[in-house]
Amino acid sequence: MANQFDVTIIGTGPGGYVCAIRAAQLGLKVAVVEKRESHGGTCLNVGCIPSKALLHASELYAEARHSFPKMGIKAEPSFDFTKMMGFKQEAIDGNTKGIDFLFKKNKVAVFRGTGRIAGRGKVTVGSETIETKSIVIATGSDVARLKGIDIDEDRIVSSTGALALKQVPAHLAVIGAGVIGLELGSVYARLGAKVTVVEYLDRILPGMDADVAKNFQRMLQKQGFAFRLSSRVTGAVKAKDKVTLSLEPAAGGAAESIEADVVLVAVGRVPFTEGLGLEEAGVKRDNRGRVEVDDHFATSVPGIYAIGDVIRGPMLAHKAEDEGVALAEILAGQAGHVNYGVIPGVVYTAPEVAAVGKTEEELKAEGVDYKAGKFLFLANGRAKANQTTDGFVKVLADAKTDRVLGVHIVGPVAGELIHEAAVLMEFGGSAEDLARTCHAHPTLSEAVKEAALAVAGRAIHS
Ligand SMILES: Cc1cc2nc3c(=O)[nH]c(=O)nc-3n(C[C@H](O)[C@H](O)[C@H](O)COP(=O)(O)OP(=O)(O)OC[C@H]3O[C@@H](n4cnc5c(N)ncnc54)[C@H](O)[C@@H]3O)c2cc1C
Repeated sequence: MANQFDVTIIGTGPGGYVCAIRAAQLGLKVAVVEKRESHGGTCLNVGCIPSKALLHASELYAEARHSFPKMGIKAEPSFDFTKMMGFKQEAIDGNTKGIDFLFKKNKVAVFRGTGRIAGRGKVTVGSETIETKSIVIATGSDVARLKGIDIDEDRIVSSTGALALKQVPAHLAVIGAGVIGLELGSVYARLGAKVTVVEYLDRILPGMDADVAKNFQRMLQKQGFAFRLSSRVTGAVKAKDKVTLSLEPAAGGAAESIEADVVLVAVGRVPFTEGLGLEEAGVKRDNRGRVEVDDHFATSVPGIYAIGDVIRGPMLAHKAEDEGVALAEILAGQAGHVNYGVIPGVVYTAPEVAAVGKTEEELKAEGVDYKAGKFLFLANGRAKANQTTDGFVKVLADAKTDRVLGVHIVGPVAGELIHEAAVLMEFGGSAEDLARTCHAHPTLSEAVKEAALAVAGRAIHS
């Protein structure tokens, strides 16, 4: 009887651990299975948390070098890279230990090892068998690889290796101008590396608003980033302490090469389902290897569910968490739901980039009649006082109803500012609702209000 549960969750990343806690809160008897030594999945161990710790430390170092002198602060900053990596490890440990505590508090049973679905209602972990009413697959994702480029986590690294380098490379080449490549590129650029980003497409941050991406690229170039857009990487050859990357124009043409000390392969992530026994269990996957689910996270096999990076939708920790909550509520007989139209996305660089809802490109493609209101941080009092005036807020609203359809920000603390837009959109609010909400002065948030005012052509400060 000891190994009988209402729900057994395989994987304790943000999807799995949050699902476990919510299910336990709702009175279900819950087990989790995790093959990694610590809980928290990609996000806490080799993703969101360690990258943000290094972004924070390197940003303060860059601030001390570039912004302190103009504020009259005298300092001669230098850094100890090993200690900085120790700061990152403390961030990981603090967060993963927090999950151990939450599992104990909520009486979640923990099984260590690789979980395998051994038929309906059965999960095996080594020699143990768990009997369970429901199974949740929350096994997340793994690094996507490029054909012909061998990741050795030393000279040619994935994000995991880039978070654990022994020293700052003199030249870091990043393959892929997505969020992870630009964040980790920022860390090393601030610490003195020359950073070259190679991207197949003709733009950075694919999927984000093109206007934002174009402006953001200029800001990164001012920080020393070099971009090789519309370029295909065709090979990487390792010599003693260098890697030579071969490139050719995406449209075809003469090949050329770049020599770097370290190459970061950041071309995305793929769903992870190895060793789960999905085929034998009859759980269907789509043509991209993602576990197929319906609107209630049910797979093709009754009693087996899936959430997080392993299913469709953006590979983001908060999306996985919200799915974990919704599924736990569904399993407890409630009406769990995720609003996929309002999932913010943030790039934690300096300045930050943040978005929620539709981009202008998406609205155009869908033939939606919309109005755009834009406000530059250059005209915001607080940004002027802080001398952090790069960037803007853009509010997109339906031309007829004024309902806000998307908000895009590039600028200081964009990742925090975006949430007033997310709350507004969750309530179906209009640009006028936002514009008429009193905002404290002087705050960066006033730029969001002004962009909302600009939708109706009545921003005060521009
Ligand atoms: C460098 C980097 C930075 C990122 N930054 C951000 C960010 O700032 N914000 C954000 O929202 N997202 C970020 N992400 C993405 C985020 O980490 C993922 O979206 C999130 O972790 C997905 O959660 P998940 O629970 O679906 O899966 P995961 O976090 O991948 O967890 C899955 C867990 O399942 C375990 N597992 C797999 N198979 C088995 C098995 N058979 N048995 C037992 N255990 C198993 C794995 O060991 C793992 O612990 C980042 C990712 C990376 C790589």
